[in-house]
Amino acid sequence: MAVFNKKNKNRDTDQDRVSGKETQQAKEGPEIEPGLAAIDYIVAIASGKGGVGKSTVAANLAVALRERGMRVGLLDADIYGPSQPGMLGAGFAQPDVRGGRIVPLSRHGISFISMGSLLGGEGPVVWRAPLAMKIIHQFLGNVLWGELDCLLIDLPPGTGDVQLTLAQQASLTGAIIVTTPQEIALGVARKGLKMFEQVNVPILGVIENMSAFVCKHCGKETAIFGEGGGKSMAGAFNVPFLGSIPLDPEIMKSGEDGLPVLQSSPRSTAAEAYVNLAESLTGFLNAGKTSGKIAEPKSFQLVSDNELQIEWPDGHMGRHTAYHLRVNCGCASCRDEDTGQKTLDPNSVPLDIKFTGVTKVGRYALAPGFSDGHSTGIFLYQRLRDLCECPLCSRDKEKETSFEV
Ligand code: ADP
Repeated sequence: MAVFNKKNKNRDTDQDRVSGKETQQAKEGPEIEPGLAAIDYIVAIASGKGGVGKSTVAANLAVALRERGMRVGLLDADIYGPSQPGMLGAGFAQPDVRGGRIVPLSRHGISFISMGSLLGGEGPVVWRAPLAMKIIHQFLGNVLWGELDCLLIDLPPGTGDVQLTLAQQASLTGAIIVTTPQEIALGVARKGLKMFEQVNVPILGVIENMSAFVCKHCGKETAIFGEGGGKSMAGAFNVPFLGSIPLDPEIMKSGEDGLPVLQSSPRSTAAEAYVNLAESLTGFLNAGKTSGKIAEPKSFQLVSDNELQIEWPDGHMGRHTAYHLRVNCGCASCRDEDTGQKTLDPNSVPLDIKFTGVTKVGRYALAPGFSDGHSTGIFLYQRLRDLCECPLCSRDKEKETSFEV
């Protein structure tokens, strides 16, 4: 019988793992939680294409979040061009291994790991992707991140299998899309957004990078790469616009020097832009948390092969039968993806269908398996609340129906 219990977090054990000390690696210290289980928010930084400054945004945003007092990790998953070690000034340092687990490096108060450099620096791209796919799951569970407030994942550009697998396996809180002002190639962005939609990862917002260049001498702004691409993309997809970062040679130089601009020029316009970005992002994350959008069940279990029980943080004890969830499955084979119309004939579902198991998907859904062999449906937490069959919810639904009549 599958039982999942959310871990109790003990913030006091974290101590100074990301205290800003330039320890190359945390070799000793308290027991550190491996994998992603003790991380509050996991945010992917993605882009439709390479060269838009996604890695630069990820590195500087990580430092800006750290400056806000958060415990921050950065996973460089850009296997094609791992740039974080250079941007964070870690050179070719390799992480240590403790008890078979990987200990993240530490720079500028950020714990970080570059998957690309672990895959072997200069190796040809053709074998990197399949290899990455193979090791992602094992890798994600094997890094000693410990307790973090936020882990940023610098995704490879594009929407291939590596991105999809990472998005699915890393329990993402959400994704941020980085674009440049002129990238009004909405087709590319739509592909990215669709990919996250497919795996039910919310888009936290769009960041526009390389916005107007401000002349240091006269203060005049020049929109070298055009204007408004980020805002219009956010508007077109109805997602928040998180802010823009100016085109600034200092940002490029700081990347080359391995010293994030918040540290090399903390009072610069560029540094201020990253601080504002960190503020918007934490605002959105906290709003999501307080509005209960990303509230996870305290526990769930199959109490019989026909009943799934879910304990919610507000004390509600949800109940679901296998038949009810099976006929309400909204996966691509049970629903028309374009129109949203159900294509599953409820009469084709056996009344005595059973659960064969249930697993957690990221931080947002549960995936039941059924005795008819169906296992591709995932149920977002909100949908599970809506479909709850406990006596209380069933009574409320009956009331609603009788009002409608
Ligand atoms: P991506 O991860 O999207 O491939 P990078 O972060 O590696 O892109 O950035 C590509 C290049 O652009 C780097 O040389 C970087 O220093 C530079 N760059 C990124 N953002 C800015 C900016 N806002 N102003 C000036 N140069 C930038």
